[in-house]
Amino acid sequence: MQNAIPTAAATPEGAHPFPHRHLTGIFGLQPWEITFLLDEAEQWVDLNRQSSKHDDRLAGLTQMNAFFEASTRTLLSFEIAGKRLGADVVNMHAAQSSVKKGETLIDTAVTLNAMRADVIVIRHQASGAVQLIADKVDCPVLNAGDGWHEHPTQALLDALTIRRRRGAFEKLRIAICGDILHSRVARSNILALTALGAEVHVIAPPTLMPPAIERLGVIPFTDFDAGLEGADVVMMLRLQNERMQGGFIPSPREYFALYGLTRERLDRAAPDALVMHPGPMNRGVEIASDIADDLERSAITEQVEMGVAVRMACLDILTRKQRGVEGWA
Ligand code: ASP
Repeated sequence: MQNAIPTAAATPEGAHPFPHRHLTGIFGLQPWEITFLLDEAEQWVDLNRQSSKHDDRLAGLTQMNAFFEASTRTLLSFEIAGKRLGADVVNMHAAQSSVKKGETLIDTAVTLNAMRADVIVIRHQASGAVQLIADKVDCPVLNAGDGWHEHPTQALLDALTIRRRRGAFEKLRIAICGDILHSRVARSNILALTALGAEVHVIAPPTLMPPAIERLGVIPFTDFDAGLEGADVVMMLRLQNERMQGGFIPSPREYFALYGLTRERLDRAAPDALVMHPGPMNRGVEIASDIADDLERSAITEQVEMGVAVRMACLDILTRKQRGVEGWA
């Protein structure tokens, strides 16, 4: 089936490089808009590798990170990204907020808005919650993961990691393996990587494979070894147990035997295949420790590094309009 998104990477003559107010998902982005975000992130990779990491272009702006679901990497990297750009960064954790007292999502959104946030970053367990808030507030909203739906900055940091290690997407075969059904990381990555022109294999047990997934332009496999054949990149996913009711897998041990990434399995992929994982990892469930820790093959810590750069790029680009940057008013 054809991917609905065309696969050209350069911004067409006269087109605005990123005409969106919010970043709620990869869905709806043009390939050149994704490429623009990746290109912009490169400068922040360079800055972040220097001892002085400040560029205060967001000075005076208030960035609110509203996290209704647990997070380590995403929350920390949004906080670091905002601080490196000079914003006043405030974190709201649902566990300590009035959400616990029964406040509705809309009331929370209205409250954040009344405090005059200039950019809001949201993670929420319900798919679509971020869009709901984006519709209610006066500032740009960034999706830091909503339910099973999307996690756009994860897909962007994954794409940046792949592009820096492997170059043009058009020549790449990328295997995404694990709990595809419940994974917002899988969904955003499928949209981004197919838009950029990669061949994407999705590998999952039948119970964790979304129906009609091939409509997204990917090739589904329930046989891990067959799906891994010749892959340039192998992206492993965690079992999203918090989104499962009932038994989707017989046991973690059997899951590892059939769908865990071991060195023998990795031999099916291309000789220098890159191993990725968005974290948090469950060692011995979806990935063997020796692969996760193999610095020759694993790009897992590099993904974390790229996360800060990508989030700096997104915060910068989405606030250009209110900062009056030329061409963005
Ligand atoms: N950290 C990623 C997410 O928030 C992946 C995961 O939790 O497994 O979706």
